[in-house]
Amino acid sequence: MGTTVYERAAPAPEVVRHALAGAQARAFWLDDVVIERHPTLESRVEADLVVVGGGYTGLWTAIKAKERDPERSVVLLEAQRVGWAASGRNGGFCEASLTHGEENGRRRWPEEYDTLDHLGLENLDAIESTLERYAMKVDAERTGLLKVAVEEHEVPWLRERSHHDGATYLDREAVQAEIASPRYLAGCWERDTNLLIHPAKLVAELGRVATDLGVEIFEHAAVEALTTTADRVRLSTAVTEVSARQVVLATNVFPSLLRRNRLMTVPVYDYVLATEPLSEAQLRSIGWSNRQGVSDLANQFHYYRPTTDGRIVFGGYDAVYHTGRRVRARYEDRPATFERLASHFFTLFPQLEGTRFSHRWSGAIDTCTQFCAFFGTARRGKIAYAAGFTGLGVAATHFAADVMLDLLAGEPTRRTSLEMVRKRPLPFPPEPLASAGINLARWSMDRADHNQGRRNLVLRAMDAVGLGFDS
Ligand SMILES: Cc1cc2nc3c(=O)[nH]c(=O)nc-3n(C[C@H](O)[C@H](O)[C@H](O)COP(=O)(O)OP(=O)(O)OC[C@H]3O[C@@H](n4cnc5c(N)ncnc54)[C@H](O)[C@@H]3O)c2cc1C
Repeated sequence: MGTTVYERAAPAPEVVRHALAGAQARAFWLDDVVIERHPTLESRVEADLVVVGGGYTGLWTAIKAKERDPERSVVLLEAQRVGWAASGRNGGFCEASLTHGEENGRRRWPEEYDTLDHLGLENLDAIESTLERYAMKVDAERTGLLKVAVEEHEVPWLRERSHHDGATYLDREAVQAEIASPRYLAGCWERDTNLLIHPAKLVAELGRVATDLGVEIFEHAAVEALTTTADRVRLSTAVTEVSARQVVLATNVFPSLLRRNRLMTVPVYDYVLATEPLSEAQLRSIGWSNRQGVSDLANQFHYYRPTTDGRIVFGGYDAVYHTGRRVRARYEDRPATFERLASHFFTLFPQLEGTRFSHRWSGAIDTCTQFCAFFGTARRGKIAYAAGFTGLGVAATHFAADVMLDLLAGEPTRRTSLEMVRKRPLPFPPEPLASAGINLARWSMDRADHNQGRRNLVLRAMDAVGLGFDS
């Protein structure tokens, strides 16, 4: 087995220790904005539509439901606080792809991939115009996505990618002129496919717009059960119940209120660091004046980006699944992973040695076996659901909101006729098989990264049956 650049060019351990010494264990984004609080639910409520879940999926759905029909009464129930989960702590890459990248999309839906690609770009444009229409201040920057090669075997992959519209291949000199990492061997800049946003500001602004449109939002209102009568759905919380004509489940990686969806996703923990604001001299030493979102091409990949106050947010690589499928606060601190991330950061940017990280955090990625959202209805069409965005949900949740409202309306649309929307992926197996399979897949992915990207028999067999594991 070979070594990776992160092993060949690792910084000294004291550089990493010093950098992490004062890092606070909370998401930088949630520390950087005040998200409005909403009341708790004390007594029985009735609504035309109840949305369960106050992340992007739930908030976009509530807004769009009101836009489609302002007379419809819409209530949103959130178990904790709006945006506390993945929506408030992600990387803020709002990417056009609805399929977790082109390769995954083409492999699974070869016939309809061009339509999916087109719908993805349309979706991203629609998000951008919605941000403008409601004057939402989310630090949006459509700077695109810079894919970088840090190993020789990744360079031809990038050459292939750059044949697409709007993508430019950058050789070693050109990519280092964009961002001064001595490890970059080549790059491919897709200028149009990514909008960087501030994740928690997006939550705050979606909450504001939803409230302005008349959506009633309740926090600390965990729905515990659903019961259905001929024409209503009853949602029970610990203190009261809500009655609805229709329901949208936007609960993502959390245990589904529908038994049929319990095995569809697994929480995979992804870890992130944010630096302190860099000095002018440090910023000059890396360039990055075009402010792209960056990611590399390995199975265990990094994603990183600048913030508007001069920090770098750096995440990815380790993707950790804990036996039992649970989402737990105690999984969020993982010193070995933060040390690995910090070490990789200084491998890429040795000129920043001495910089400190101000924040370290983690969140549960909503992983499903097809790497992108699945959809459906239940209880005779009164309930719609979407989940499983697998780490690429910032833009796709906006698309999912429309799909669910289309499904509840019962009228076929371009979206609901997609095979991607009509067919459910394979579930993950129950424990202990889930852990065994996921750990084997992770080990195989690490081996591939150490072996010039060559996929072993396990990964090839998983590819062949459409089963996958990713973050
Ligand atoms: C560290 C990290 C980095 C990421 N980076 C990116 C990125 O850069 N780009 C990208 O596109 N995607 C990224 N993602 C993924 C993206 O954040 C998610 O796909 C997206 O936020 C999903 O939104 P959501 O509303 O479906 O889920 P969530 O934000 O998880 O919201 C679900 C909500 O439902 C609530 N809920 C659950 N059960 C109940 C119940 N029974 N009753 C009431 N409420 C309930 C929860 O409390 C939660 O608030 C990242 C994710 C993580 C964790």
